[in-house]
Amino acid sequence: MAESLNFIHQIIESDLETKKYGDSPIITRFPPEPNGYLHIGHAKSICLNFGTAIKYNGLCNLRYDDTNPVKEDMEYINSIEEDVRWLGFTWNERLWASDYFDTMYEAAVELIKKGKAYVCELTPEEMKEYRGTLKEPGKESPYRNRSVEENLKLFEEMKEGKYADGEKVLRAKIDMASPNINMRDPIIYRSAHATHHNTGDKWCIYPMYDFAHPIEDAIEGITHSICTLEFEDHRPLYDWVVREVGFWPNPPQQIEFARLNITNMVMSKRFLKRLVDDEVVDGWDDPRMPTIAGIRRRGYTPEAVRAFCEEIGVAKANSTVDIAQLEHCVRDDLKERVPSRNVIFDPVKVIITNYPEGQSEECEIENNPAVPEMGTRTITFSREIWVDRADFEEVPPKKYFRLFPPQEDGREGNEVRLKGAYFIRCTGYAKNEDGTVKEIYATYDPETKSGSGFEGRKVKGTIHYVDANNCVPITIRQFDYLMIEDPDEPGRMIANTDSLHESVCMAEPALKDCEPGDRFQFFRHGYFNAEPKFYSKDNLVFNEIVGLKSSWK
Ligand code: ATP
Ligand code: MG
Repeated sequence: MAESLNFIHQIIESDLETKKYGDSPIITRFPPEPNGYLHIGHAKSICLNFGTAIKYNGLCNLRYDDTNPVKEDMEYINSIEEDVRWLGFTWNERLWASDYFDTMYEAAVELIKKGKAYVCELTPEEMKEYRGTLKEPGKESPYRNRSVEENLKLFEEMKEGKYADGEKVLRAKIDMASPNINMRDPIIYRSAHATHHNTGDKWCIYPMYDFAHPIEDAIEGITHSICTLEFEDHRPLYDWVVREVGFWPNPPQQIEFARLNITNMVMSKRFLKRLVDDEVVDGWDDPRMPTIAGIRRRGYTPEAVRAFCEEIGVAKANSTVDIAQLEHCVRDDLKERVPSRNVIFDPVKVIITNYPEGQSEECEIENNPAVPEMGTRTITFSREIWVDRADFEEVPPKKYFRLFPPQEDGREGNEVRLKGAYFIRCTGYAKNEDGTVKEIYATYDPETKSGSGFEGRKVKGTIHYVDANNCVPITIRQFDYLMIEDPDEPGRMIANTDSLHESVCMAEPALKDCEPGDRFQFFRHGYFNAEPKFYSKDNLVFNEIVGLKSSWK
């Protein structure tokens, strides 16, 4: 059994072996701040936290990090829960950091009593100056050695709202000479006269993240608090808080992993919110967005996203993943689960001159050649059909096996197989005044019907078609990457405002009977879904999920 474990699972297995957490199950948490929609970077954290709990028969909490007093936004909260569920996970408990404000306050008072915290009145500018730099130690605040009594009184007054925001803060008394700037008497409580969605106006002081988070983890009995690498330098403070506050026998441990970055995607709720607010995109769930809501609407599957998170693994060093790898996972998941449909993107008419006018016949065609169990469907064939303009050349290049007319050098017009129907041979074509191809002429061989067992001769090219007498126009939406490199400033990513392309195509009639969200392979083109929000019988719109070709090796 040579299963290779990621470094976090190695730590967990060693902790289980030494019974570091006694008989407690492994408990993790996913702690989003409800200030935007989740993106695919969060999916990595969700897969890691929930996946770890599942792997070790443990538990994972969904905890909203709402230590900032902002208004609750139900839209964000609902979207977060929908996204976690969509990814296939269920939380143990749904919790709010703000539920622990009382405990956090008591913990701060205890620190003051132990001489480990003090009320400081330096201005933000002074505080910055006193903090020192990476090269130089900081200077102690003149307020650092106040008496416990004075600190208790001042902190109480802060709580009562006697001071304006920024006038006084509570700082941990740690070490102004520490090489780690986070340990130079960090602020742990600040005044903020703001209404909190959960606690209302009860508090006008709020704990800082670095003080609150370890306490939240400890209260919930989190064993492994998994976060991204930016917090590595905060870990000594995390450990200091759980140790000094210390009402827990088995404190949680913080473990950092590299955040997910993907080429052509920006993962920052703040930035994504700007795209929404500036109407660069059509909402948080625009199919071009890297949000979970966006990729869901685009047609990505939770299985593909989980497979991707598994495949990229968990690392200790930041790197950027090629978006082609994500697309590869999506294609790989879809290829054996969605049926095929014929759609002609850039239609040109072919007239089958030896097929009787007014006649039509049914043809059986496989839904997914790779999966026979997916069965067949019926399409029709008649005298006029649509094929893709790209499947015809007036003068064929070398090794061209699709349609071309008789050539001046005496070569015959080419014969191709129409997928599901007959062999047809191109006999000629007509042009429009502007030089474009108007229509193509061909003959069919009645002996060659697909499924008839015909073995008389082989053709090298197979193309698809739709019956011009039995088809529907549909609109397809294709997407370029939303983020592209600024042509004027290499290395800088900017929003691509020309990233949505709509076109009208000819499709087999089945595409007017879909459910929103249904996924298909548009044969020889790519994967598409019926637009989840506004597909209807009167609005046949499909989104491109991903193309067929992979640039991922
Ligand atoms: P953003 O900057 O996009 O708002 P955030 O880290 O501030 O991201 P939170 O809501 O605080 O967003 O994140 C919840 C959890 O998701 C955190 O544990 C965070 O570490 C994790 N997370 C956020 N972005 C990524 C990412 N790109 N890769 C992996 N994990 C991430
Ligand atoms: Mg955050």
